Amino acid sequence: MVKKIKELQAFFGLQVTGKLDQNTMDVIKRPRCGVPDVANYRLFPGEPKWKKNTLTYRIAKYTSSMSPIEVEKAVEMALQAWSSAVPLSFVRINSGEADIMISFETGDHGDSYPFDGPRGTLAHAFAPGEGLGGDTHFDNAEKWTMGMNGFNLFTVAAHEFGHALGLAHSSDPTALMYPTYKYQNPYGFRLPKDDVKGIQALYGPRKPFLGKPTIPHVPPHKPSNPDPCDSRASFDAVTMLGKELLFFRDR
Ligand SMILES: [Zn+2]
Ligand SMILES: [Zn+2]
Repeated sequence: MVKKIKELQAFFGLQVTGKLDQNTMDVIKRPRCGVPDVANYRLFPGEPKWKKNTLTYRIAKYTSSMSPIEVEKAVEMALQAWSSAVPLSFVRINSGEADIMISFETGDHGDSYPFDGPRGTLAHAFAPGEGLGGDTHFDNAEKWTMGMNGFNLFTVAAHEFGHALGLAHSSDPTALMYPTYKYQNPYGFRLPKDDVKGIQALYGPRKPFLGKPTIPHVPPHKPSNPDPCDSRASFDAVTMLGKELLFFRDR
């Protein structure tokens, strides 16, 4: 027991005391991914990876807590987070067997990793391979959202796709592949360094674009944070995204 507690504390970057102190209990209780934290935590044993550069995915079962369009957007953005770092591209299909089959599932759903209802385990994914390989399941008992309430689907999907592409858990608390849930804003998200290193170890870096660069000539522009209560302020567009009200002006 003490040995296992020490392993867990070392993995999560806590003080290694071998005792179930408050910090250790906090980590144990945090909502998390269902893939266990076993030995080789950067890559899976045997280092499975996809042997092709274009992968298909299919959203086979949706959730009632988000609209299908929102689910598709969150999934697409989560895949893009990875394809920005490596030479992989993802194509969505609507029928048949895709490499990455995505579904929202409840309780026991036929893969011997039953979900546990609200909180606890949020999702899990299978390492690259045939059949279940690459498949990604989300616990349908969670409240999935595009925003900060409930669990942000982009955040969890981006982590799970890391597994579907061949990454195991990282013990770096700033990594996307750290096992516990931490909200990530989907807009402007950049894959953390540790995850970039991990995924490039499997697939190599994305080749820089070799065509003629087309950088539009824009006069220098000083970004400023406008005061929303300034009566002289003007905006070009306003939109509600989840619970956030966003104002746009110029570019
Ligand atoms: Zn995980
Ligand atoms: Zn499953």
